Amino acid sequence: MSTFQAPKGTYDLIPPNSATYLAVREAIAAPLRNSGYGYIETPGFENVELFARGVGESTDIVTKEMYAFETKGGDKLALRPEGTASVLRAALEANLHKGGNLPVKLWYSGSYYRYERPQKGRYRHFSQVGAEAIGAEDPALDAELIILAHQAYRSLGLRDFRILLNSLGDKECRPVYRAALQDFLRGLELDEDTRRRIEINPLRVLDDKREAVQEQLIGAPMLRDYLCEACKTYHEQVRELLTAAGVAFEDDPKLVRGLDYYTRTTFEFVHDGLGSQSAVGGGGRYDGLSEMIGGPELPSVGWALGVDRTVLALEAEGVNLDIPAATSVYAVPLGEEARRVLFGKVTELRQAGVATDFAYGGKGLKNAMKSANRSGARLALVAGERDLAEGLVQLKDLQSGEQTPVVLDAVVEEVRRALG
Ligand code: AMP
Repeated sequence: MSTFQAPKGTYDLIPPNSATYLAVREAIAAPLRNSGYGYIETPGFENVELFARGVGESTDIVTKEMYAFETKGGDKLALRPEGTASVLRAALEANLHKGGNLPVKLWYSGSYYRYERPQKGRYRHFSQVGAEAIGAEDPALDAELIILAHQAYRSLGLRDFRILLNSLGDKECRPVYRAALQDFLRGLELDEDTRRRIEINPLRVLDDKREAVQEQLIGAPMLRDYLCEACKTYHEQVRELLTAAGVAFEDDPKLVRGLDYYTRTTFEFVHDGLGSQSAVGGGGRYDGLSEMIGGPELPSVGWALGVDRTVLALEAEGVNLDIPAATSVYAVPLGEEARRVLFGKVTELRQAGVATDFAYGGKGLKNAMKSANRSGARLALVAGERDLAEGLVQLKDLQSGEQTPVVLDAVVEEVRRALG
C-alpha cells in the first residue's frame, strides 16, 4: 500500500520551520493583546447561510471556493473561508454588544479553508490571525487597527510591505456610484462572466487582473468622486491619524477587495517580494454586516493577516527570526542507575521551569552527545556510575566544552546559575 500525502493545496508545519509560524502568530497577536483585544475562538465550520449572506452570494469565496457540505443530520454547513462573519455571529449570539462597552474588541487565530487553485502563497488550508472591533464608528478605531498591523509587521523585521488604502463609501453614496459604474461597464467589450458580474457586483470588475480589461477601464468613474461628505470627512480623518502615527500608506482608488461586506475604510497590506499572491493581509470597515446576518446596526472594522504569506514575506526579505532553542538542558545518562536518577532530575528541572530533554532509547555516549548538540541546549547533564557513587553529575557547557562536577541536590540551582 502506498503511503498517504497531505491533500492537494495543503502542507504540514513541521519542526524546525513550524517554530517560525508560531512566532509569526505571536508577533501579530502581541500588539492586539496590548490594545484591549480579547481572544475569541469559534468553530471551524458554520451554517453555510452565514457566509452566503455575510461574505456575499456573488463573491468567488462563496460561489467557487467554499467547502460546503451536508451532514448526516441534514445540516448545511461550510468550513469557514474567513473569520469576520463567524466572529460577529458569535459576538451577537453571546450578546457581547449589549454589555454597554462598545466597541467589543476581539482577536483570533486559526485555520481557514478555500477551494482555490493552489500555487505559491495560495493554499486550500491556510492560517490567519485577525482582529475585529465591533460596534463603533470612529476613524481612530480604523486607524488603530491599521497601526497595530503595521506594528506587528515591523516587529517581525519586515520592511518591503506597503499599505493600500481606499474608501468604499456607505449606503448613501455607494448605490449612486454603483449605478454610474454599471452604465459605464455595460458599454465595454467584455466576456459573458464579466458581463454577469457587472449586474451582481460591478465593483469587482475594477479588480480584474487581465490587461485587456484594465485597458478598457481607463476613464471608468471612480468611487472617490462619488463619496458623500460624511464618508469623505471620515476617510480624511483616518488618513490624518495614520500620517500622524508615522504609518505610510498609498491611496488606491481601485482597491475593492473580494468580500461584499466592506463599507468606507478598506485596506490591504501587500508585500513586494511575493509575486502574484502579494496580499499578506487586509481588512476594512463593515458597517452593514451585522444587519445582513440578522443583528442590530453595529458599525465595525477589522482585519485578517495571513500567517502563511507573512512567513513567505520573511523568507523573501531574508529575515531570520530570533527563535530561542526549545531546549536549554539535555540529560545524558550512562547506565541503568544513571537513567533512573537523571530522569528524576529532568522532571525536577522541568518543574522549575527549565526546558529540559533526555537521551531516551539507551543511546551510547557519542550518540547522546550528538543529540544534545542538535537540540540546541546550552548545557548537558552527564552522569555515569562513578559520578553517582560520589553523589555527583557532570554539568557540561556545550559551547565551551567546559565540564564541572555538581552535587545531585544542587543541580537545579547550578543549572539556573549557569543559564544566567
Ligand atoms: P482575505 O480575507 O481574502 O482578504 O484574506 C486575508 C489574508 O489571508 C490574505 O491577505 C492572505 O494573506 C491570506 N489568505 C487568503 N486566502 C489565502 C489562501 N488561499 N492561501 C494563503 N493565504 C490566504
